[in-house]
Amino acid sequence: MGRIQPSQTIAMSQKARALQSAGADVISLSAGEPDFPTPRHVCDAAIEAIRAGDTKYTDIAGTRSTRAVLAQWLKNLRGLDYGLDEIIICTGGKQVIYNAMTATLNAGDEVIIPAPAWVSYPDIALLSGGKPVVVPCAPSTGYKLTPQALEATVTPRSKWLVLNSPSNPTGAVYSAGELRALADVLARHPQLWIMSDDIYGQLAYGPQWRTGPQGQALAPNILQVAPELKNRTLIVDGASKAYAMTGWRMGFGAGPQALIKAMVKLQGQSTSNSCSIAQAAAKAAFEGPQNCVADMAAAYEKRRDLVVASLEGVPGLACLLPEGAFYVFLSVGGMLGQKSSQGRPLNTDHDVAEALLEEAGVATVPGSAFMAPGHIRLSYATSDENLRQACARIKAFCQAAQ
Ligand code: PLP
Repeated sequence: MGRIQPSQTIAMSQKARALQSAGADVISLSAGEPDFPTPRHVCDAAIEAIRAGDTKYTDIAGTRSTRAVLAQWLKNLRGLDYGLDEIIICTGGKQVIYNAMTATLNAGDEVIIPAPAWVSYPDIALLSGGKPVVVPCAPSTGYKLTPQALEATVTPRSKWLVLNSPSNPTGAVYSAGELRALADVLARHPQLWIMSDDIYGQLAYGPQWRTGPQGQALAPNILQVAPELKNRTLIVDGASKAYAMTGWRMGFGAGPQALIKAMVKLQGQSTSNSCSIAQAAAKAAFEGPQNCVADMAAAYEKRRDLVVASLEGVPGLACLLPEGAFYVFLSVGGMLGQKSSQGRPLNTDHDVAEALLEEAGVATVPGSAFMAPGHIRLSYATSDENLRQACARIKAFCQAAQ
């Protein structure tokens, strides 16, 4: 346990909630979850499932009917073919990643993590006995991994490359061309498997990402441009983000049969099947009307524009336009070395996030949690009014610092 850290995003949300319940006026931009309710038809399907008695153990990998819906969804959306024995339903995308790493990593096997990256990848790799290899990716490449950086990082011990597009925390989206260039490097390293974390895949903004079969938003994944990698790629996806279902705990993995079989074996000795009711709800989410996803994505896109426009030109801050997910990753490099208006030294991203919380009442997450010091992450999965107020507070905070 000494090797791993508690999740810093959760820690920051908890701190904000504690301040709020003590009466402080805090706007939280720290949580990584949609503020929208789960769509009505999804909730109804869950209630029906309870009434129909779907309250027993299911297959460990998940019910056949929900896996069939997920297979069809992958086929419709991404043109990818998966059989039922190539899909596992887990208790959140997080458990998909956990199962995959635990099932495959031997001591010292390397997990390549392009950073900025989601907080949990390195800790899950460490828990599984693996060795996280963090590859810093600069703003000049859109915080994305380049083929050169990948080539320079691979060793004979490299087991997994984690690709997360759209990215938490940067919102960066890999284009088909960028994925193809990475696939060319991967072709030379057959020992290296790809974990394609597509959990924000349907939350991509702007006409350039209307690449779904019906012109809907879709960030491409590596298998769509490099199908030859299918025998060593695991797709990680789930209901949490696109369908506003974080609390239901439903994620799924799609990959080669032998890998899925190992993950099922592991899951059978830990949590067993994911919640039967959440599986029924997810079935409705993935096979039902998809306009709820488009509506939420349209709202996120407007909010992104609101935040980016409100913070433009604020002294000490800089950001790239995020193209997906629901985060803005702000560089606070220009503030470091200054003092807040209340005299707090702002020497690190932690100092900035803490001062913002305690002096301005805005909760964010320091970039170091995402292996990218000198930044803070704002989540715009909250109301326009909250975002307007929070941005005004951040602006005033930065202008007053010296
Ligand atoms: N992957 C990324 C990049 C995430 O941001 C998250 C959640 O924050 C997950 C996976 C896991 O989500 P869940 O376990 O809720 O499906």
